[in-house]
This record gives sequence, C-alpha cells and structure tokens, in this order.
Amino acid sequence: MSNKRRRRIHIFGKTTLIKKLLAFYLVIVVVSFYFMLAVGRSYIYDQVLEETTTSLAGAADRLVRSGITGEDFTAKSLKKLTPSFDVAAKAANCQILIIEDNGDIIIDTEQKTKAPYYNVLDHGQASFLHENATYDYTIGGYLSTPCLCVSVPLYSSDNFHGFLVFAHSNSFITNRADYYYNILLNVYYIVIGLLLLTYIGLYFFCFIPLKKLRAGSKDFAIGRDNPPIIIHSNDEYGEMAETLNVLGEELSKFDEYQRKFLSGISHDFRSPLTSIHGYLQAFREGLIPPEEAERYYDILLAETDRLTKLTNQIIELNSYDRNNILLNVTPFDIHETIRKVTDALNGRAVSHNINYITELAGDGPLIVCGDSEKIHQVLFNLVENALKFSPDNSYITIRTSVKKGKAFISVRDTGIGIPKDDINSIWDRFYKSDHSRGKDKTGTGLGLSICKEIMTAHKEMIDVISTEGVGSTFTFRLPLDKEK
Ligand code: ADP
Repeated sequence: MSNKRRRRIHIFGKTTLIKKLLAFYLVIVVVSFYFMLAVGRSYIYDQVLEETTTSLAGAADRLVRSGITGEDFTAKSLKKLTPSFDVAAKAANCQILIIEDNGDIIIDTEQKTKAPYYNVLDHGQASFLHENATYDYTIGGYLSTPCLCVSVPLYSSDNFHGFLVFAHSNSFITNRADYYYNILLNVYYIVIGLLLLTYIGLYFFCFIPLKKLRAGSKDFAIGRDNPPIIIHSNDEYGEMAETLNVLGEELSKFDEYQRKFLSGISHDFRSPLTSIHGYLQAFREGLIPPEEAERYYDILLAETDRLTKLTNQIIELNSYDRNNILLNVTPFDIHETIRKVTDALNGRAVSHNINYITELAGDGPLIVCGDSEKIHQVLFNLVENALKFSPDNSYITIRTSVKKGKAFISVRDTGIGIPKDDINSIWDRFYKSDHSRGKDKTGTGLGLSICKEIMTAHKEMIDVISTEGVGSTFTFRLPLDKEK
C-alpha cells in the first residue's frame, strides 16, 4: 500500500470534532433528561410545599395578630369571628380550624353550623398541633382528604388556649407542583431543541467548511498540486480557505523554486567542472601542445573563478536568508563609487569597445546614506550585466539625479533587453532568460537577486525598464545625507 494511501486511512479513522460534539450533546440530553425525571419533579414538589407552608404560616400569623387572641376564648365569642375566618380560608384556599389542646374542635370553616365538636381527637392524633407543619395528614380521619396542616398556638393574656390550624389539601399542592413541573419540562424541551438547532447550525456553518479545510490541508501535506479548497462564504472559514489556497500555491512555487535552484546549482557547477576535468585530462595525457598551454591555463583559471564566484554568491545569499542583512550605514559619495566600479570594469569595456557616459547630478560629490560596500556591489552587478548584454562598440550611460531628498542612480545600456515575460523573474535566484544565455557564458543568475536583497535591506527600491532588442535601464534609489 502506498504511503499516500496509508496516511489517508489514518486520517479518516480519527475521531472528528463533530463526533465529539455529537457525543457531548447526547450525554447532555440523556443526563439532563434523567435528572428532569428523577429529581426535577420531587424538587419542585418540595419547593412548592415549602413555599405553601411559609405562606400559610404567614396567613395564620396575620389572622392571630388581627384579634383572635383578644377574645375570651369561649366557643360563643369565637363564633363571632367566623366571617373573618371564612375570608381568610378563601384567600388561603384552605380549611381553618381552632383546636383546643384537649382535642375539642371549636371552629371549622367547612362545618360552620355543627362545631364545636368535643373530644374529637385523642392525645396521639392531636400531637401534630405542636409541630409547625405536618404533611399529608387527615387529623386522625377528621379531614376528608390528606392535607398540609400548619398550626399556630393561640394565647390570650398569656394563657394558652389552643391552636389555629390551616389545612391545605394535598391535591392543591400536587397540582401546583405539576403545573410548575410542566412549565419546566416545556422550557427543557425548548432548550434541548435550541441546542439541537445550534448543533445543526454548527454542522452546516462550521463543520462542513472545517471538513473541507481539513481534507484540503491534508491533501496539501501529502501532495502539493491539489485543486483549491472551495468554500463559498466570506467568513473566517472562507478566509482560511483562501489563505490555505495561497499557501498551497506558495508551496507549489517553492517546490518549483527548489527544483530550479537545484537544477541551476548542479548545472552551473557541472559545466565548469566538466571543462576543468576535460582540460586537466588533456594536459595529463600530453594532448595539449606547449605553445597552446597558456590559452588553456587561462580557460582553467576563468572556470575556477566562475566556480569561486558562484560559491561566494550562494554563501552570501544563504547568509541573507538566515540573518537579516547587517548594514553598516554611513554617508558616502555615490559618484566616487561610480568611478570605482567603472574603473574596475574598464578592462572589459575597453576590450569590447564599450564607452561609459556619465551624467552626474552636479560636478562635485553626491553624498548618500547606505552601506557603501554593499551599494558598490549593487552597482558593480548592474554595470557588469550592462557590459555582458551590450553589443560591441556601444555605450553604457550611468546617471545620477536628485528628487525629494533621494538620489536616483541608473545604469542604461543599448543591449539585448529583457523580454516582457521575463521581466518579473530576473530578480529570482538562478534566473537567466533563455535568450541571454548565448551572450552570457559566465553568469550565475544570482547577481540581481543579491542586488534586490541589498536594496530591500536598505528599504529602498530597485527597478528596471527594458525593451527587447533596444536596451535596459536599471534604477535604484538611496536617501541623501541630511547633514549635507
Ligand atoms: P547573471 O549573473 O547570470 O547575469 P543576474 O541575476 O545578474 O544573473 O541576471 C539575471 C538575468 O537577467 C540574466 O541572465 C539576463 O537574462 C537578465 N539581465 C540582467 N541584466 C540584463 C541586462 N542589462 N540586459 C539584458 N538582460 C539582463
């Protein structure tokens, strides 16, 4: 099984976020449903019971304080209070009783005409009176249905007379608890439904794009020439897909660049090495006549020079990649640099009968700020290229001008020019346009990359205007020295 295939199987076997969230959702539903059924109802019943007890105790207390204790506590006098008891009973939705300590029931709002009843309750049945509240009690069978009984002691002039009892039917409490429970249950279903909707929304808006992104990025990891990830939305996922697509393109470009880099390096090393090897072998086998030796020594020297130049340029670019270029910025005279560069390359210019024309800004020095050695290198590469690609008996114009506090330095030739399609690539490493190869046997394709890196480090521009068959003008810019 290929490596690619093995990896795919591994990817699809993985737990996905969507599965995790679905499992999490199901656990929430099951656990919460269990709690709703097992605990929710009894919890609400307890709450309702507690709340009803408190409210009945409050109502009983208010009734006591509204005047019962002022009575002389005879059955007859208490009977006078029956209307206010009725009102209180109706308001609290319960049956009100006054029970004496000995079990006599003096008042009962449900049995107005018949009370008092004497010795209705025995001692055991009446013991509930001493509790604040008793649940689910029929007062020894006296009440027709089980009730919550809340009792409050009655005193007049510090004499204890009995208890005021509020009996609230259990069925009211159960009904109220059921009512609240049903509300809670409905809210619960709505919340679960909303969670489900959220999950569905998440699935469509997050997981599906995420799935595409995941598949796309895995494809990028496996192989780089993949179709772009398509997500039709301009949210974060769309943005991420675009970023990944750009990254994919960059990776492809980088692959391409690496391929070119390696083939460039190997080609540029192989051809001088082959010729050095060939000539040395010819010397060893005595095939070179002594009068020809000097010419071949020159060729050998030129080839080794080319290898040295190539190696130095690769080392230099590599150091630019790893560390930012460290510049030693000082004021210097760019006109002086131009002179040094043209002098250094004068031999080549003379041998091809190429003249320099210098059009300098002013007669004196032009002081600019920059790393003078690195700028010397930039200018050297540009003039060297101009010489390489110019026809014999032509001229190269080197010009300086000043604009808005900047010096512009340009090198113009009337050489082969650069084809339109190549113009953006000339700054790439190892790039040599096909049509220039015939004219340039010594080039490495690294000179302009070095120029670009140096000018970028100076935070200044370098650019070219060129017409194939007419010539090229390379221009770079440097800040003027402010002191001057
Ligand atoms: P090289 O060392 O091979 O010249 P460069 O990076 O300096 O490498 O240049 C890259 C390519 O750009 C050259 O191979 C050539 O095709 C093109 N080029 C650079 N300068 C000129 C110029 N003055 N005229 C025409 N083509 C040029």
